[in-house]
Amino acid sequence: MELTTRAVHAGRDDLVAQGLHAVPLDLSTTYPARDTRAEAERLHELGTGADIPGLPVYGRIGNPTVARFEQALAELEGCAAGVAFASGMAALSACLLAVAAAGTPHVVAVRPLYGGSDHVLTTGLLGTSVTWATPDTVRESLREDTGLVIVETPANPTLATVDLRKLADACGDVPLLVDNTFATPVLQRPAESGASIVLHSATKFLGGHGDVLGGVIATSDDFARRLRQIRFATGGILHPLAGYLLLRGLSTLPVRMQASSRTAAALAERLADHPAVTKVHYPGFGALVSFEVTGDPHEVVGAVRLITPAVSLGSVDSLIQHPASLTHQVVDPESRADGGISDQLLRMSVGLEDVDDLWTDLSKALAMING
Ligand SMILES: *Cc1c(COP(=O)(O)O)cnc(C)c1O
Repeated sequence: MELTTRAVHAGRDDLVAQGLHAVPLDLSTTYPARDTRAEAERLHELGTGADIPGLPVYGRIGNPTVARFEQALAELEGCAAGVAFASGMAALSACLLAVAAAGTPHVVAVRPLYGGSDHVLTTGLLGTSVTWATPDTVRESLREDTGLVIVETPANPTLATVDLRKLADACGDVPLLVDNTFATPVLQRPAESGASIVLHSATKFLGGHGDVLGGVIATSDDFARRLRQIRFATGGILHPLAGYLLLRGLSTLPVRMQASSRTAAALAERLADHPAVTKVHYPGFGALVSFEVTGDPHEVVGAVRLITPAVSLGSVDSLIQHPASLTHQVVDPESRADGGISDQLLRMSVGLEDVDDLWTDLSKALAMING
């Protein structure tokens, strides 16, 4: 079946048999069981990250509503399993803890990455070390103790793209983690190109309405088990209501991505012709457009009236922000330059508004700095 169809039906296969239309929201923190011996056995298995059928024991171990979202996202990404977390950073942290715990704490990563991801790798806060590479130097950067290669494509905030098939080849046996937050499975399915771990900040396009924080990993059964074990131990779980909202978000993801991408492509063309714009970063697909301006980028953010001046992305309304000050402030200036993040760069997440209304707002704001 096509992705648009699966987006509406995945994670909901059992509903008709249960006489349900909407997905049930299970807010239980604990689950009753009179047979303590059987419960003890289940708990032991679940504690190792096993995905066994039946009711969960406790909310930190698993939740049926969240499980529907995990299953649906895994299906859209073409992966065996999904594991959801409280945020995108909680999802990345679990991956880093998993590779560090396995005795392979060295990570090879390609800049630019989301500022928070860059920060957690650079500081080594979770016991990993990092070698920064370009797609061409990944292979020679691998070591005996390398447990993970990390890349974002299109990357935040420059929208630089990486040839995933080529990169996956360069990784050999080392798992390749692709942050697919910007493209979503509608525009790119990294597992089809050889990535073994696909990460999403579900806060962005998957939720789609700017009202839910979440993260999710799509991966193999084996790595999912390790992630569930870490999630059980560290507690970075997704709230069931967030799971409900994210599953609902998935059903409109394809139409939202298609509509926003059309508008973003049109805005990228108009921006390229604007005298206050020196460079447009648009990879030819997707709902984000980044551009460099001649004057003070803060003036542009301050002048828009329809577009929301805010960090984050992937909402039904368009957002604009200045990466060097906000999302990538935690990355030091030299490393920002390394990743091609100019101080003149603005990043816009295109929503579902009319293209002409957006252009009127944006071009008025750009006129403020032009001359
Ligand atoms: C926002 C974002 C993250 C972090 O996700 P949170 O849900 O904010 O923790 C990671 N990667 C990318 C590309 C992002 O845009």
